[in-house]
Amino acid sequence: NHQLMINSEKLSVAGQLAAGIAHEIRNPITAIKGFLQLMEGGNDYRKEFFPVITAEINRIELILSELLALAKPQLDNYQLEEIIQILQHIVALTKSQAILHNISIETQFNSKQAHVFCDENKLKQVFINYIKNAIEAMKDGGTITITAKEEKNYIVVQVKDEGPGIPKEIRDKIGTPFFTTKENGTGLGLMVSNEIIKHHKGEVKVDSSSTGTTITVNLPISKTIGVS
Ligand code: ADP
Ligand code: MG
Repeated sequence: NHQLMINSEKLSVAGQLAAGIAHEIRNPITAIKGFLQLMEGGNDYRKEFFPVITAEINRIELILSELLALAKPQLDNYQLEEIIQILQHIVALTKSQAILHNISIETQFNSKQAHVFCDENKLKQVFINYIKNAIEAMKDGGTITITAKEEKNYIVVQVKDEGPGIPKEIRDKIGTPFFTTKENGTGLGLMVSNEIIKHHKGEVKVDSSSTGTTITVNLPISKTIGVS
């Protein structure tokens, strides 16, 4: 059972990210341009090309929407929220998708009223990313277990799956922009999640073995309830 920290050092290099974005978005645009040129040539390729063009545009949209989650954290969006409520909301949001993949989501929340000073939507994005990865990893179904417990001044949230784990060879690469092993992956989920948790002064840890992967997130519990 191997432990590693997602490497966030290389992520802060804006130039590397910019180059990656440019590259990832130029590819579908080049493809779309090519199809348009062929169509301009007179032949009617509409049946063949429209679905491909639509798929490429959808991909650009997906990449941009994932990157938008990185937009500079606005203090205005930070509020005291009950983390358990957020997690319950996430489970409700992802349940149908899980069921479609023969996966059940189980929860174990050993905390009642832990408040976290957070941007609720961004934090939701983080846990949706982890659950999506878990669902995508568990090709034969199984159980995703989400736990939350208080430890000192932190709330510790774990998302555990029964997938095949993350192969040793790629453990250093996950969480770097655009690294994906999936045909339609963007390779942005872990990087974006990691950045968001960092903005919340939390920590992310990944444990993976051949019987599954566990993502552990520590978030500071806010003691300033009633103060605004
Ligand atoms: P994407 O999901 O678009 O590929 P992510 O940043 O979310 O991008 O994940 C990067 C890679 O990390 C995935 O392609 C996959 O290889 C690996 N990974 C992430 N989560 C898991 C998991 N729960 N189980 C196995 N592999 C995972
Ligand atoms: Mg993902």
